[in-house]
Amino acid sequence: MSENAPLAGLLAGKKGLIVGVANQNSIAWACAQALHGAGMELAFTYQGEVMRDRVHKTIATLGEVPTYDMDVRDDAQIQSVVEQVRERWGQLDFLVHSVAFAPKTAMANSFLETSREDFLAAHEISAYSLVGLSRAFAPLMVEGGSIVTMTYYGSQKAVPGYNVMGVAKAALEASVRYLAVDLGQRGIRVNAVSAGAINTLAARGVAHFRDLMKITAERSPLKRTVEPSEVGNTALFLASDLSTGITGETMYVDAGFNITAG
Ligand code: NAD
Repeated sequence: MSENAPLAGLLAGKKGLIVGVANQNSIAWACAQALHGAGMELAFTYQGEVMRDRVHKTIATLGEVPTYDMDVRDDAQIQSVVEQVRERWGQLDFLVHSVAFAPKTAMANSFLETSREDFLAAHEISAYSLVGLSRAFAPLMVEGGSIVTMTYYGSQKAVPGYNVMGVAKAALEASVRYLAVDLGQRGIRVNAVSAGAINTLAARGVAHFRDLMKITAERSPLKRTVEPSEVGNTALFLASDLSTGITGETMYVDAGFNITAG
């Protein structure tokens, strides 16, 4: 992070676990780069063996870093990662939760058509997983800590094509508030970053995604879409002692799109 030289060392000595890297375009990877640039020591999870090589290739520039197999639907795998992180570091300071999924059928049809099965799958992976991971990793945050998740404006307004994912993001943002209350006494802060539209693997599952990017660029006060690095830098801020008074928030990093009238 040479262009951010003043931040070098800001997170020195801190340990962070990044959940949600799929490839170079992943928001989780942008977070990792910002955190690494500020001196945080990182570990990563990947979603099953099929993602392993892709994730390793993405993070190769960081050198030797621990990686763990973890599907957020699997409590035994989550607990195994907790134990491995405990063994390696003894504690954890920061958790990035950058995970979402909705079945294709739920994204292709109208929201009205959402099946029970698709609704539950989207909520389990995209919202409940934050609760499960927070409960599992909070005991490692012995000196307090920070947890950050990624959300989108489709939680607040009906965004065409965002469908069940918008409903899951509303549950995610509410979970952030309740988790912040439960974990506050332990000095653990929980926040969401509401990112503007960014072209990633997950985003391509949203119908009309390119239109969404175009509309964002036209309508947002900054007249552009956001860069992944801008989301990463916000994760850095929320991981750092610069944000110790902030918890339970949904922080928009969307070039101001959410404050405009449609
Ligand atoms: P991405 O495809 O790079 O990341 C999604 C990640 O979720 C992948 O790494 C995938 O492996 C992981 N995942 C899905 N199901 C999982 C499971 N069962 N267990 C473990 N991991 C699982 O896409 P992204 O856009 O970087 O998405 C990251 C987060 O950012 C998501 O929560 C997404 O909703 C959110 N977000 C994205 C945008 C955007 O426009 N791209 C905007 C706002 C918020």
